[in-house]
Amino acid sequence: MSIELKNVTYTYSPGTSYEIHALKNINLEIPDGQFIGVIGHTGSGKSTLIQHLNALIKPSSGTVSYNGEDVWADNYNRRELRSQVGLVFQYPEHQLFESDVLSDVCFGPMNQGLSRKEAEEEARKALAHVGFKEENFGKSPFELSGGQKKRVAIAGVLAMNPKILILDEPTAGLDPKGRDEILDQIAELHKVRGITIILVSHSMEDVAKYVERLIVVNHGEIAFDDTPRKVFTHYKELEAMGLAAPQITYIMHTLREKGFNVDPEDITVEEARNDILKALKEMNSPLLKGGSGK
Ligand code: ADP
Ligand code: MG
Repeated sequence: MSIELKNVTYTYSPGTSYEIHALKNINLEIPDGQFIGVIGHTGSGKSTLIQHLNALIKPSSGTVSYNGEDVWADNYNRRELRSQVGLVFQYPEHQLFESDVLSDVCFGPMNQGLSRKEAEEEARKALAHVGFKEENFGKSPFELSGGQKKRVAIAGVLAMNPKILILDEPTAGLDPKGRDEILDQIAELHKVRGITIILVSHSMEDVAKYVERLIVVNHGEIAFDDTPRKVFTHYKELEAMGLAAPQITYIMHTLREKGFNVDPEDITVEEARNDILKALKEMNSPLLKGGSGK
């Protein structure tokens, strides 16, 4: 079971002077259950790419298939596809519209044919998953803070029980605390529900510690598609694309250049700490004396 893109290109306003080749020959396979980060500079094509995954955009050329079937075949049920491949837009305002939070989150499941009562059950579960408090269920989605709106928008998609959840820059505009909370909840969702998660971001630090696979988009092409560790070893090329690797990558590479036997693929502070201590021990470094090596 997977989504597969073969030689997908997409051009906005073809044949006009505004023509933009947003995607160029994309080949991609997304098997079930992965936690994937899609990263790239603003304008690199991330949003265009993910809208191909649930058939909101039709490729200018190439094919998109879901579980082996071409999603643009004449009799393909794209509505059903969109309830299995849920997309949370970058701007939650685009998908909030009901008068109160609970009704808003019920909209998707009711659209799938559930009664209001059944839909409420799904909505409550979804809202709990994103840490939205019951006391605010009756509020208008439009009077909520940015972070709360985001949660409601995520819950609205989650309530439809998608097999694949795509989040377009879910942390944009949030403060660091709100950002970490939402990312932790998304990671938890992946663990508890076992669904595929595709997390779009322009911030490397955001996605690095969460995802198992990192797809880097640059000028409408896939520049790298690998584990975060492997991708970060290309930190110089990433910089040229306007992306930075995590700070740890820089520290470990600098230490190596200076002759320390550390692993340049370390990406967490914990790994780096252990590795640096090991290297210092091997070198019998005086830095370890005097109790600093705890
Ligand atoms: P990202 O999500 O990485 O910021 P987008 O997929 O939104 O990138 O945009 C890719 C390119 O397509 C950019 O050059 C952008 O200006 C252009 N683009 C995006 N949406 C539209 C649109 N609706 N009409 C015309 N051009 C667009
Ligand atoms: Mg975008």
